[in-house]
Amino acid sequence: MFKKGIIKDQGIDITIKNNPDHFLSPNDWDKVLDAKFGKIPADEYKKWYYNLLRSRWADRKEEFIDLAKEGLNKEIKLRCFCPMASTICHAHFAADFMNTLAKQLNKTQ
Ligand SMILES: [Zn+2]
Repeated sequence: MFKKGIIKDQGIDITIKNNPDHFLSPNDWDKVLDAKFGKIPADEYKKWYYNLLRSRWADRKEEFIDLAKEGLNKEIKLRCFCPMASTICHAHFAADFMNTLAKQLNKTQ
């Protein structure tokens, strides 16, 4: 099970600042800052982020699947600087994405 975490939690840091090579980290500072400062709505940021993950899927499928499998057996926090209450944090979107993937893997096993 995947959840958003805050930066001091145990878990995986998926921020562009600390872990830019992670497959769940954003790759565009402008988008991240637009989201942070409310210049784009949450649904637009979510759409952009999901498109980014889809574009990485082909090349980095194993990484997605390995992590999703790990999340079937334990709770994994995806860490970001935003507070838990933030509704526009990509870590929420990443957790939803990974939970959906884990569910599908579980079905096909
Ligand atoms: Zn965040």
